[in-house]
Amino acid sequence: MSLNAFITEETIAGDADGPLAGTTVAVKDNISTEGVRTTCGSAMLESYVPPYDATVVERLKDAGATIVGKANMDEFGMGGTTETSAYGPTKNPVDEGHVPGGSSGGSAAAVAAGEADLALGSDTGGSVRNPAAFCGVVGLKPTYGLVSRYGLVAYANSLEQIGPIARSVEDAAALLDVISGPDPRDSTTRFDVGGEDAESETGAHPATDSNYAAAADGDVDGTTVGVVTDLLDGADERVVERFEAALDDLRAQGAETVEVSLESVEHAVQAYYVIAMSEASSNLARFDGVRYGESGGFEGNWNDAFARAREEGFGEEVKRRVLLGTFALSAGYHDKYYKKAQDARAWVKRDFDDAFEEADVLATPTMPVLPPALGDSLDDPLQLYLMDANTVPVNLANLPAISVPAGEADGLPVGLQLIGPKFGEEAIVRAASAVEA
Ligand code: GLN
Repeated sequence: MSLNAFITEETIAGDADGPLAGTTVAVKDNISTEGVRTTCGSAMLESYVPPYDATVVERLKDAGATIVGKANMDEFGMGGTTETSAYGPTKNPVDEGHVPGGSSGGSAAAVAAGEADLALGSDTGGSVRNPAAFCGVVGLKPTYGLVSRYGLVAYANSLEQIGPIARSVEDAAALLDVISGPDPRDSTTRFDVGGEDAESETGAHPATDSNYAAAADGDVDGTTVGVVTDLLDGADERVVERFEAALDDLRAQGAETVEVSLESVEHAVQAYYVIAMSEASSNLARFDGVRYGESGGFEGNWNDAFARAREEGFGEEVKRRVLLGTFALSAGYHDKYYKKAQDARAWVKRDFDDAFEEADVLATPTMPVLPPALGDSLDDPLQLYLMDANTVPVNLANLPAISVPAGEADGLPVGLQLIGPKFGEEAIVRAASAVEA
């Protein structure tokens, strides 16, 4: 039985040689592929064929990879289970009665099932790490500005990055080596002209002198791992048990663990959803049936035609978010919601800065729960949003984080999340490779 991991199965061959020659890759369906339909999991884009490749797709081809298809996803990345896809849900290959997580659920399921060696997902609030955790594979969300977003269909552009999914930490890191680096078409990757806070004094992009795959050496002797106590309280006991066992294991390998508290994370889910929905309401305005998207027909005036295209093309969750985001940004409410959320975002950033004074990397369970049964989450959006408690703080602070398998509970995978300081990808890859060992 098919897992429904792909929306479109089509082979896109890369160059004959390169570091990924002979490797198959699944690409999330919100990443543009020239000449191959890119739907974002939405009926709105059912027949949309991009005229150009995303930068990451160009880099995959140059590296010799073979793309095997466009992976299923929650509509426009809005969800955590892949059930909001207009093309039907994907099954979790570990236990087909359960969701694979999301929104990059097709990408993670394809890798876990061996339908692809590697995959690309996008992570706005956890969408690479969540499905990696639920499918028992590795997923990495890079620091904002490490990987080009050119050709990624935007959901909430200040939060999201494209990230690798693989069966091992080293493979995920090797894929990051291929896709990272500056891109003249995405100014947030341009350190030479002051992109992403112009952190680098030399103007060199952090990926220039990095070798992420080489960092997967398992050497955590002397590393200080900060355990974020605030994010353990609400988690499922079975998840916490696996998490603690993984920490024991790291200590046995010479790591030191300390407790850290991030008081602001209590507000992270609220802040994230206000910001993500606000940005979405603006980014999705282009899907009007004229500029982009299926036409709603040309009867009536422009407002009628526009409304009809969106009524027919968007699913429930997308409509809910566009409405709430528009509301949060409207005159009179802007200061009450959007500005407050931005203040909370700044607080989360400061909290992380303080925590990295005490620890090299931070650890949390990736997801506070085990993968839900298929069909269980759709009618309770709030429950679904709360599932993102451990992943969204990382996006608010634009930091890197990796989810690595930490065993199973009741036959379902549990993921451990390691968070690094800005551009600290090598540190989280190293620590994750020790968890894996
Ligand atoms: N579940 C979160 C949301 O629905 C994260 C999604 C994502 O990272 N694309 O917004």
